[in-house]
Amino acid sequence: MTFTDLGLKAPLVSRLTGLGMSKPTPIQAKAIPHALQGRDVLGIAQTGTGKTAAFGLPLVIAMSADTARPAPRGVRGLVLAPTRELATQIVATLQALSGDLRISLVVGGKSINVQIKQLARGTDILVATPGRLIDLIDRRAVDLGQTRFLVLDEADQMLDIGFVHALRRIAPLLGKQRQTMMFSATMPKQIAALARDYLSDPVRVEVSPPGRAAEKVAQSVHFVAKDQKQALLIDLLDGHRDDRALVFARTKHGAERLMKQLERAGFAAASIHGNKSQGQRDRALAAFRDGTVRVLVATDVAARGIDIPGVGHVYNFDLPNVPENYVHRIGRTARAGRDGRAVAFCTSDEMGELRAIEKVLGARVEIAGGTPWTSAREAAKTPAKRRPRRRPGRRPAKKMAA
Ligand code: AMP
Repeated sequence: MTFTDLGLKAPLVSRLTGLGMSKPTPIQAKAIPHALQGRDVLGIAQTGTGKTAAFGLPLVIAMSADTARPAPRGVRGLVLAPTRELATQIVATLQALSGDLRISLVVGGKSINVQIKQLARGTDILVATPGRLIDLIDRRAVDLGQTRFLVLDEADQMLDIGFVHALRRIAPLLGKQRQTMMFSATMPKQIAALARDYLSDPVRVEVSPPGRAAEKVAQSVHFVAKDQKQALLIDLLDGHRDDRALVFARTKHGAERLMKQLERAGFAAASIHGNKSQGQRDRALAAFRDGTVRVLVATDVAARGIDIPGVGHVYNFDLPNVPENYVHRIGRTARAGRDGRAVAFCTSDEMGELRAIEKVLGARVEIAGGTPWTSAREAAKTPAKRRPRRRPGRRPAKKMAA
C-alpha cells in the first residue's frame, strides 16, 4: 500500500517522501480513504501510530482543493487537542504537510493579544486547546461559522481533563455541514457517547484494540520498596546513559524532587509538570529532543501527546491512578516502528494500580525484579482476618433487664 494508492497526488507524495514518510502507517491506510470521501471518522489509535497525518493529510488536501480564502476571524478547519504540547506538535506536522496554508496555534500560556492579531486575518487550520479557544470566542476574536472540518485529537484525554463542557460550547458554533474526525487511544463508554454526539454516521477505524499497548514495547515491572525506588532508577538509568529516558511521576512535587536527585546523581535531567511555565516546559522538551537532556521527568498532563523520536525507555516511577494513562505513557517509546522498553516500579501500595493496568492490557506485565506484593501481604493478613476484631470504643451490648 502506498500513498498514491490512497489517492494522494504526486507533489504531496514526494513531500511526504522528503519527510521520511514513504508509505502509510496502518491507521493512515485505514482512515485516509474514508476521510477523503468526506466521511466522519472515529479512529482508535495511540500517539506514535501516525494518527496526526491520518487526520492531517485529508485536512490539508481538502483545504488546498478549495481555494476560498478564510474570512477575517474565520477558521476553515479546527483541530482541538488536550494539551499545549500536543497542539504545538500538531501545528508542526500540519505545516510540514501543507506547504502554504495559513495555520494558527492558540494555547494557554502564550500572549492572547498576539493570537487575536493572528486570527484577525483568518485562518485555514486552527489548532487549539479548548480553554484558550473559549477565551478567544468570548472576546469575539474568532468566528467558527464557516468551519467545515473538526478534529478532536486524544479525545479520551480531553475527557480526563474535563474539556467536555468546553466542547459543548464550541461545537454548536461550527458550520452545520461539517466533517468530523475523532481520535482516541482508548474507547471507554464516554468516548462512544462523545462520538454519538459529535460525529455523523462515522466509519470506525482501529489499529490496536483499546488499551492494548504498542506491540513493540517490551514491558516489565519491578516490585520494589518505596525507599528503594530512587536507587533502582539510578541503577537502571546507569545501564543506558546515552539513551533518552522518560520518567513518569505522579505529582508535580514528586517529579521535581526526583529530577533534582537525578541531577545530583550526575544525569542530565529536566522536568515538565504543571508548576513549570510554558517557556520552561518548551525549553525542557527542546533540550530533551536535541539530546542535551537525557532524562526527562514528567507528570501525565505535561507529557500528554509529546512525540520525541528515540525515547528508548519509559519508566513508570509511580504507577498512574488511571490505568489508561499507562498506555499513553508507554506509547512515548517504540514510536514509528522502533523498539522501546517500558519499566514500571510497583510498591506495596500500588498493587491495585498494577492489577487495573493489567486488566486494561488484557495481559500480565513481565516481572523483572522482586516478587508481587499481593501474595506476601495476603499471606500475612489471612490469619489476622480470621480473628474476630472488636471495634475500638465499643463493648459488646449487654442485655437489658426487662
Ligand atoms: P503520531 O502518532 O502522529 O504522533 O506520529 C508519530 C511519529 O510517526 C511522528 O514522528 C511521525 O513523523 C511519524 N510518522 C507518521 N507517519 C509516518 C509514515 N507514514 N512513515 C514514517 N513515519 C511516520
